[in-house]
Amino acid sequence: MPPIQIAIDGPAGAGKSTVAKALAERLNIMHLDTGAMYRAVTVKALDREIDLHDEEAFNFIDATDFYFQDGELILDGANIETKIRSPLTSQHVSLVASHKTVRDALVKRQQAIAEMHDVVMDGRDIGTVVLPDAPYKFFLTADPRTRAERRFKDMLKAGDTVNFEELVAAIKTRDDYDSNRMHNPLKKASDAIEIDTKDYSIAALVEKLYSMVKEG
Ligand code: C5P
Repeated sequence: MPPIQIAIDGPAGAGKSTVAKALAERLNIMHLDTGAMYRAVTVKALDREIDLHDEEAFNFIDATDFYFQDGELILDGANIETKIRSPLTSQHVSLVASHKTVRDALVKRQQAIAEMHDVVMDGRDIGTVVLPDAPYKFFLTADPRTRAERRFKDMLKAGDTVNFEELVAAIKTRDDYDSNRMHNPLKKASDAIEIDTKDYSIAALVEKLYSMVKEG
């Protein structure tokens, strides 16, 4: 039997990763947060102090080892879970993710994982580029203020000081950048089911997707 592939795409803060993780648990299959992979490359690039506009400087990716352990990202042997979620990383990740070298390398790794495992994969280009033949594709959206509110609550919980309006602006900037880049932009696949997550609790949304997958 071919592996089960479930693609979940959408803009920043739409709840993709939370829903994808819970859905994967419910189905007892793997979850791959592809945004975390772009964030890991950004962390390494910032640590190396390379010019983030210089695509050639990202040749280090092929020699980079990263994997998930209990849902947390390990980069070259170090746990970088906190670093990948930092505001500094969020600020730069879209620029890093716009480079073809970076995308090609990560898409290849994501496709290799999906060949080996049943997976729920979330990102921006999963239904369009990474897994175009996935039988289940969802595109999760919500208006920018609703998305910012979720991030705001998460950040307050984590003890970060954050300005709500700045967060709304940062989310809009990242969406614009992700939607308008040349390579693999954020886009709904024509055969994806679009869902406005404002209308659901996380648990209700997971249940909805679970039933849709189970019903085939
Ligand atoms: O999902 P998350 O918000 O963590 O993604 C961080 C960034 O990584 C996105 O804003 C986007 O620039 C990039 N990304 C991407 N393609 C994906 C996943 C994430 O370009 N499949």
